[in-house]
Amino acid sequence: MKKEDLLDLNEAVQNPGKKLSFSFTTALTQEEDLDLVQPVVGSVDAVSTGNLLLVETGLETTAVVECARCGAPLEVKLHFKMNDEFEVEGVPSCYASDGYAKVVTDEPVPLFKNNALIRDNYVRQGLLLNIPVQPLCSFGWDGPCPNAAGTVDDKNTHGHPALADLGNLLTGDDS
Ligand SMILES: [Zn+2]
Repeated sequence: MKKEDLLDLNEAVQNPGKKLSFSFTTALTQEEDLDLVQPVVGSVDAVSTGNLLLVETGLETTAVVECARCGAPLEVKLHFKMNDEFEVEGVPSCYASDGYAKVVTDEPVPLFKNNALIRDNYVRQGLLLNIPVQPLCSFGWDGPCPNAAGTVDDKNTHGHPALADLGNLLTGDDS
């Protein structure tokens, strides 16, 4: 893991009340679940209460998703904020010379390496949580959707040229 892929929050963890801020851009390469057309621009502010590390994040990017009705590709702008809390164990070093506080998480995907946030894992998780679940193209659910015509999911297949041709082939009427 490259050093720039980690956001080192240790100084905040060892000094409750001290706020650390980062801004970054990441292309999030090697994505299977996310189709991003722009790098993710993000900012992270972190401050510890002693028992909790509070992380406030803003992320902005553009992704391509599929219309839930017709499967047409849609570009969606994503711009959102997240507020996360992570448990901290141990005595911060600012309170005791031999103290060392540590972020503890039990996430299935590791988000911290020691007290550094694993930036791309965190960004990826945030995007997956905030991407629209049922995006729709401009035709919405009501009315004829030219994109949806012809898909197996759609009942309104009348008048679709490709299907009309297929019907003609089946009946032998190609006039
Ligand atoms: Zn659609």
